[in-house]
Amino acid sequence: MKTNGKFIGAHVSASGGVQNAPQNAKAIGANAFALFTKNQRQWVSAPLPDDGIAAFKENCGGEFSAKHILPHDSYLINLGHPEAEGLEKSRTAFLDEMQRCEQLGLDRLNFHPGSHLKKCTEDECVATIAESINIALSKTNGVSAVIENTAGQGSNMGYRFEQLASMIEQVEDKSRVGVCIDTCHTFTSGYDLRTTAACKETFDRFDEIVGFQYLMGMHLNDSKKDLATRVDRHHSLGEGFIGLDCFRFIMADERFNDMPLILETPDPSIWADEIKLLRSFQAG
Ligand SMILES: [Zn+2]
Ligand SMILES: [Zn+2]
Repeated sequence: MKTNGKFIGAHVSASGGVQNAPQNAKAIGANAFALFTKNQRQWVSAPLPDDGIAAFKENCGGEFSAKHILPHDSYLINLGHPEAEGLEKSRTAFLDEMQRCEQLGLDRLNFHPGSHLKKCTEDECVATIAESINIALSKTNGVSAVIENTAGQGSNMGYRFEQLASMIEQVEDKSRVGVCIDTCHTFTSGYDLRTTAACKETFDRFDEIVGFQYLMGMHLNDSKKDLATRVDRHHSLGEGFIGLDCFRFIMADERFNDMPLILETPDPSIWADEIKLLRSFQAG
């Protein structure tokens, strides 16, 4: 496959076992993918079976490298939890997620940073998140913690680039922390992406405040909600308030090369077409 440096896929199903994810990615013409390594709505899952781990690695084969696979953690985890019990539970579950990535030979774990639940300040929440990352990194090897920006819904942190920068600043091992930028979250948190000029301005600001050296993946989603609504509702590419120019911009920009570019759009039946559409935007 001629990639021109772009690695595109979707958050595919791992139902029946993690080894099915690469097969589901191949079926839609992807050369990258995202997956859950456990049930994302449960606190505890059975350990990954040895044969499942081996089959996952075999199915990835020469087609998917670790750096183009973006596992996503459970939605229940809140690494910025303001209360001791909830925080402890989240940190334990997050460590398990990191260890699953280690077992699968993966090098990054994408997660939503956390929420203050209106029980502490935003700065305190950011500091708790950074401490949670430090703890997880100190107990694992080779897996980077990839903080996803959020729409800022409810009390979710990570909706300003400054908050991502502050988390990174408080992480001790900067070689194992990165960010994943979700276009829908970026847009509804208040950064415009509707035109080429708006994309240039938004990503220049991202570079200034966080830095492209920390970008380890993207979620490519259009938005059902308008700019700065702080609501997280993904839409299929070109169907929402963002429109296609944003995705043309990303596909033509080398700063998004060699990382997983992942669709989390709501209609899996058109993922293959959306990947083809993105490929058609590539130069050359
Ligand atoms: Zn996302
Ligand atoms: Zn989202």
